[in-house]
Amino acid sequence: MAEAHRALERVAACPVCGAEQARPRFEIEGLAWRVVVCSGCGLGRPQPMPDAKEVRAFYEDDYYGEPGTKFQPVIEALVRWVGARHSAFLSRGLAAGGRVLDVGCGRGVVLGSLADQGFEVHGVEISAEAARGADPRAAIRIAPGLVEAGYPEAFFDEVLIWHVLEHLRDPRGTLAEARRILRPGGRLVVAVPNFSSLQARWTGAAWFHLDLPRHLYHFPLSALRDLLRGTGFAVDSEHHFSLRQNPFGWIQSVLNFFPRLQRDGLYRLLHRRSQGQPPPFDRRTRRRLWTWLLLGAPIALALTVLEVLLRSGATVHLVAHHDRTAPDA
Ligand SMILES: [Zn+2]
Repeated sequence: MAEAHRALERVAACPVCGAEQARPRFEIEGLAWRVVVCSGCGLGRPQPMPDAKEVRAFYEDDYYGEPGTKFQPVIEALVRWVGARHSAFLSRGLAAGGRVLDVGCGRGVVLGSLADQGFEVHGVEISAEAARGADPRAAIRIAPGLVEAGYPEAFFDEVLIWHVLEHLRDPRGTLAEARRILRPGGRLVVAVPNFSSLQARWTGAAWFHLDLPRHLYHFPLSALRDLLRGTGFAVDSEHHFSLRQNPFGWIQSVLNFFPRLQRDGLYRLLHRRSQGQPPPFDRRTRRRLWTWLLLGAPIALALTVLEVLLRSGATVHLVAHHDRTAPDA
């Protein structure tokens, strides 16, 4: 496409490959940031990079929902069921009583499930508000970042960075710290939206998982692999199926092509509202959104299976281990 002819521009050094040049990819109506793509590794980012204050304004008070719950009850029950399956995956092969850290643990739903299985669970969270109402068995530290949380070296058997890395200003520093606090051979599980997926490429600026400007970096799968290797991890497996993320991403990304349905409108509709707050949008828009959700679900599921077959999941999770033969990052 015309992309190759677009002028390179200077940006701050890429946290994956160090390149200082990027190409404009697209703009999103109503937002001050363009998405640019690293000339070296394809990592996407908003340009200019928003500062912490600007980003904070986009985490509305209800981003995390009421304590202990984030969605409407039916959706919440589904989220919890998927969560239980999820925690079984996370703990597969982990020795009994193992020590697990969830980075960006929020309200600690995953930690609660892992505690049920007898693991020693720890969490670090930037927002005290978000961690309110979390499972009391989870030892949660409130800190601006993983480094500041100050865990001892070789302390954990497993570290989870689940849909958090893309929110961080220093993903490389965070992974290096994760390696330091993992015991040699310990396991790391990282999930991110996949900027090189079919869903991302086909829907472009409408892609639901761009989530600007909360997502500061958009990782193509190859860039995530490079970053893991560069911080002393060896990748063991890559997973392209997520029932929780990927079908919904298809529906919402396609709906984002229709301005009448409001950007991320379906997500906002399903999101639990604070007590007494009226539902979003007018009745007609709400009915339209529910209809598209029901009609779109089977197609979205089929596309999600296609993504798995093509190893191109809209979100991916990688299992890696602390590689004791790699030099410290
Ligand atoms: Zn790069």
